[in-house]
Amino acid sequence: MAGNGKRLRVLILGGTSEARRLAEVVARFAGIDAVLSYAGRTENPAPPPIPYRVGGFGGVDGLVAYLRAERIDRVVDATHPFAAQMSRNAVAACAATGTPLLALERAPWRPVDGDLWIDVDTLEEAADALGETPRKVFLGIGRLHLDVFARRPQHDYLVRLVDPPRGELPLPHVRVIVARGPFDVAGDQAMLERHGSEVVVAKNAGGSAAVAKIAAARALGLPVVMVRRPRIQPRPAVETVAAVMRWLGHEVPAEGAERGV
Ligand code: NAP
Repeated sequence: MAGNGKRLRVLILGGTSEARRLAEVVARFAGIDAVLSYAGRTENPAPPPIPYRVGGFGGVDGLVAYLRAERIDRVVDATHPFAAQMSRNAVAACAATGTPLLALERAPWRPVDGDLWIDVDTLEEAADALGETPRKVFLGIGRLHLDVFARRPQHDYLVRLVDPPRGELPLPHVRVIVARGPFDVAGDQAMLERHGSEVVVAKNAGGSAAVAKIAAARALGLPVVMVRRPRIQPRPAVETVAAVMRWLGHEVPAEGAERGV
């Protein structure tokens, strides 16, 4: 409940497995009135156990208007670490409206012994890091921005997408796997072997849902071109659903919160 006894109105910016887990935990608390927001990039997302909305707000001004119209008390930014525009908009709109904001942010992956990482700052740099010689490349970066790799058309690309592509992909040599995570290491290792992948391109998302491809590359001794996260202005952030719940005034067992039970 908010301090005055009314239900706490919370906007959860989603599009990640963490946001979904948070929604599952929040759903159990009668004092929290939360809505989960999706950008609308994924077709038919599994409906969450709390009310949800789909689509952009219309920039900072649109989000400010939404926060006011819906009388939102708190915002949890549980977007993907690479959804930088949404996160920046949330910082600005929450500052403008005086709405407390907390980011649920996974720690980035860190290389361990045996990892062959080539760190880059952008997808453009990742494409360039693949070099001139044609290679078999697993692009584990999702659907957006595949066109960046058109600047290196000599490579043979394997991409994994949540939804089947609606049209031609912008790459001349490309094979597509349609699958929805989370993925496991054995499965990703088999996939990389089956396709003869020689290098993996990944965004440093962190978290467990997409880490299998990194562990699989390690097991196979494959290099990983790892794109660093975009910068977002400093904001209060936590790494677990349990910590978000504490910020919302509820203690939940850490393990249960992380499993979404
Ligand atoms: P982005 O570049 O930061 O956002 C672009 C615009 O999309 C935002 O300005 C906003 O439009 C709208 N938007 C983004 N997230 C939204 C949300 N949760 N609810 C309502 N509107 C949202 O984001 P993106 O990289 O395109 O990612 C889009 C979604 O996919 C996010 O929800 C993110 O969590 C998820 N996702 C992204 C990645 C990735 O690698 N980027 C990976 C997995 C999942 P308005 O300005 O009109 O409000």
